[in-house]
Amino acid sequence: MTSVSVKKALRTAMKIALPESELPILVPVKPKFRAGTFTWSKNDDVVADPVRQLTQRDLDAYMDPGLRNDLVAMYLPAEYPDVKVLGLVLAIAKELRRGRFDDAQAALNAFVQGSVADPTISAAEHLAWILNAEISKASPIVWQPDGSSQFAFGLYCEDVGTALFLLALQRVGVGRIGRCQGCGEVMIADRTSKRFHDAKCRVRAFMRRRAEEKRRTSRQKGKVN
Ligand SMILES: [Zn+2]
Repeated sequence: MTSVSVKKALRTAMKIALPESELPILVPVKPKFRAGTFTWSKNDDVVADPVRQLTQRDLDAYMDPGLRNDLVAMYLPAEYPDVKVLGLVLAIAKELRRGRFDDAQAALNAFVQGSVADPTISAAEHLAWILNAEISKASPIVWQPDGSSQFAFGLYCEDVGTALFLLALQRVGVGRIGRCQGCGEVMIADRTSKRFHDAKCRVRAFMRRRAEEKRRTSRQKGKVN
């Protein structure tokens, strides 16, 4: 019985965690374009700010040079992500959708190489860090959608740029990105059980494990003698 309720709780938690569908991505907007109210305290004053949901369609509009200015005009002045950087993330999503995993891997490599590497951490750690630098300013809020008497959960992004990046990452699916256990580099996981880039990385991990085991046994033998 317990396991059933735990499963149910997990399912509910996952529903809440899904951005956009269950948790709308909200950004401050000019009053004319409002879709609801976010009441919070700013500089010790309680303010009711107009907000609007940003969807995948808005992301497409932002990537379209003909529509970008119309989109930007709706929102308050904000920092926007580099179109080139955002384009690389979207290229990963596009290739994944087409089932071209090698091209998705190439787009992921280009995205990672485009940022300044820190030699003290692995490529996968570096990637997780730059993704979090883009999206960690989002926070869960309670808002009031216009025309509804009920409150609702939302994911508030003070910057439209944060929201756009979140949408791009959502299109890729973070579960499609992983760390190869052979070489430690980032990899596209075309299935959840994938642990290595390819057979070469699998063999490399196997050889390393065997070498470690050998070292351990020879150390133990050394102790006995
Ligand atoms: Zn590898």
